[in-house]
Amino acid sequence: MQSTAELWSALTADSEKFAQYVQALRDIDGRVGSFLSFSPQVVSSQKTGSLSGIPVGVKDNIAVEGQPLTCGSRILENLISPYSATAIQRLVAEGALMVGKTNLDEFGMGSSCENSALGNTSNPWNLDYVAGGSSGGSAAAVAAGLVPLALGSDTGGSVRQPASFCGVYGLKPTYGSISRSGLTAYASSLEVIGPMARDLQLLKESFRVMAGLDSMDQSGTAGSCSSDQTNGTIAVLELDEGVLDAPVAEAYRQAIDALEALGHPIKRVSLQSLNLIVPAYYTIATAEASANLARFNGIRYGMAPTFAENPAELMRKARHEGFGDEVKLRILLGTYVLRSGFQDQYYGQAQKVRTLIRQELAAIYQDASAILMPVFPTQAFKKGEGGMDEYRQKTADVFTCLANLAGLPALAIPTGLSGGLPLGMQLMAPAFGEERLFALAKELEKTFPLETPEGALDIGSLQ
Ligand code: GLN
Repeated sequence: MQSTAELWSALTADSEKFAQYVQALRDIDGRVGSFLSFSPQVVSSQKTGSLSGIPVGVKDNIAVEGQPLTCGSRILENLISPYSATAIQRLVAEGALMVGKTNLDEFGMGSSCENSALGNTSNPWNLDYVAGGSSGGSAAAVAAGLVPLALGSDTGGSVRQPASFCGVYGLKPTYGSISRSGLTAYASSLEVIGPMARDLQLLKESFRVMAGLDSMDQSGTAGSCSSDQTNGTIAVLELDEGVLDAPVAEAYRQAIDALEALGHPIKRVSLQSLNLIVPAYYTIATAEASANLARFNGIRYGMAPTFAENPAELMRKARHEGFGDEVKLRILLGTYVLRSGFQDQYYGQAQKVRTLIRQELAAIYQDASAILMPVFPTQAFKKGEGGMDEYRQKTADVFTCLANLAGLPALAIPTGLSGGLPLGMQLMAPAFGEERLFALAKELEKTFPLETPEGALDIGSLQ
């Protein structure tokens, strides 16, 4: 049988089939709305490599030379990137094709894609539901079969949560393992680029290609972690009754049973710092965002007002008109927690919580090879009015933010459906334990085979 990668590279190498594919993608994406811009090159890449001819969707906060880099924001609506992120350069060198940029919550701030100023993405499983966020466009594109591989960025769950809402794999790699050069910064100490795919082999290969030190990113890290512990103990996070919605709670039990049935001893653990995760995350994320987003001032590039009396007014107008409400809220919160004389009370305190979390997790990894936990307390929620309010969306980031605060790798794994919408769980490993996560996901593949939403693109049907 041909592998997913072989099927896709045969398709993109055939110009007739490629044209059919582009048409089918446009039709389906007219409903799903995963892409903000689509730039297919009919001539397939000259380069041959392990990702030869594989089309990739890229979250629109990652730079691809010659393509838009909007970050889902009005302030960057007309920006074309003059260069490619290191991760993109590495994929291209292996023959991958960057076919377009996908929708996101503005600058990565959100959990639904509804904070995008430029697009409206739906969940391919049910168009009345959100695809998740902030990398919702990438997850929806993979779930709808439009691309076999897509990139997101994960600052507080933005790869894993949409992957889980859309029923695909999503990896948040170890902090520093993939260069952040070319990723538009939101919260620099928390974030990392991560791949999403329906095919584990492809996910793994894309990570292998992107990872590694880069002279353009001084926060890069390299290290190792043995992968041969797949029969090891799995720690399972104990949660109070009612924390998870019923279908997610049931899926959690099923995932625990599945791991046990595969021969993994299960160890129940709790985290004392659980209630501190969200406050620490939003303190650090907003503080760093307020500093990172200061560069968008309408002077060198991006949206600028047609008239201003002086430079201060120009910046004020550009930021007032260019940023959406959620972005403004976070900049205000960030400047508040960093204001003179108060850094220790907020940012410093949040950093101490971070240390506490790392210590607690290190203690758990003394006798467990990975930790299993939910990705999000609910499945995908409804778009618009009937959805989840923004405060609850933030408190629901608790399970995903954990890996970002600790810098650890975590993989969202699809675990079936309930009510026609996907379910997903995540496994978190010690630093550089990605291979261990891939191996565990492979074991779980038989128990939880991937499902496909109706109306998804089937490349096998293209003549
Ligand atoms: N929901 C998180 C937030 O809004 C996710 C952010 C992310 O990972 N980019 O901050």
